[in-house]
Amino acid sequence: MEGTSLPSTDTMYAALCERDASFEGVFVAAIRTTGIFCRPGCPARTPNPGNVAYFAGTAEALHAGYRPCKRCRPMAPAGAAPEWLAPLLAEVEADRTRRWRDRDLVALGLEPKRVRRWFLAHHGMTFHAYQRARRLGLALGALQAAGADGSDAGPRADATISDVALDVGFASESGFREAFGKLFQATPTASRVGGRIEVGRLTTPLGPMLFGVLVEPGGRESLVLLEFTDRRALEGQLTAMVKRTGAVLAPGSDQTELAAELCDQLAEYFAGERRDFDLAIGAPGTPFQEQVWAALQAIPYGETRSYADIAAVVGRPGATRAVGTTNGKNRIAVVIPCHRVVRSDGSLSGYGGGLWRKQALLDLERGQASS
Ligand SMILES: [Zn+2]
Repeated sequence: MEGTSLPSTDTMYAALCERDASFEGVFVAAIRTTGIFCRPGCPARTPNPGNVAYFAGTAEALHAGYRPCKRCRPMAPAGAAPEWLAPLLAEVEADRTRRWRDRDLVALGLEPKRVRRWFLAHHGMTFHAYQRARRLGLALGALQAAGADGSDAGPRADATISDVALDVGFASESGFREAFGKLFQATPTASRVGGRIEVGRLTTPLGPMLFGVLVEPGGRESLVLLEFTDRRALEGQLTAMVKRTGAVLAPGSDQTELAAELCDQLAEYFAGERRDFDLAIGAPGTPFQEQVWAALQAIPYGETRSYADIAAVVGRPGATRAVGTTNGKNRIAVVIPCHRVVRSDGSLSGYGGGLWRKQALLDLERGQASS
């Protein structure tokens, strides 16, 4: 689980003060007031202990919305990046919202497989995953800075979205909003509802989550997205949501009542004090998808069902695979309990948020259900 492999905060803070490079690779330190993260040995001025958040790796820091320090360059390997990769890294820094495809790499004279191997070896993730982390981190960093998540986990909680838009390299707040829209672009389909989707971030014991609350033109609010920020499919889910609703994404907009209620109920759930959620949710999909998601919500707290069970419930025995796929497309993690679906032999299979999270959610529920 996150955090459990880290040394104590005191130890890490002491390492940071002493610029102890022997902690290199053990943790990275993120500075809430500046929104950047550093190697343990960074020569920059030591921050106030209350302003430091610690992460086991660069991916976690990026996903939490921090960006790498330009002085100690925590994304660079211990030595310098190889010469053949330097032009790519420079271009990535120059336009952080750009979406790179294999053919763009080829155009730079790079072999996509070689780039992939290098990123895997040095960052533990592929180049595409690295880019996703950067893009999402960029967007989330600005959200947190605008204080949209209502928690104290983010950097610069008192800055305005416009301060941070300028800080992360956009000429204006509208420029930032436009770029954010570009990152999660989608063409609405016929079934448009309109309105806006408030996108924000909250923290849980299993890591940060991104949420989306749809506010319809008439003012009706519904939860349309809740997902762990490191989930690979997150960008696709945001895009699907915009397609389904026709609403515009509104990062850092005024906090809705529903978002506040969601934070409260999730806190109760993770404390073992809540078994059912009482929230307006919106999970539009195909008729089959909607049936499956409804069947998931009927699985009681602390219990599990097999994919075949769910297929039978929706009147499609034998559609086990389709149920599995639909389960994986659930956009409202935890609240629509797709983690309660397991293999027929009881073993765990795929979970978008990672199997360790699925296990942790089931353990939490079993512990509470048996008491
Ligand atoms: Zn640094």
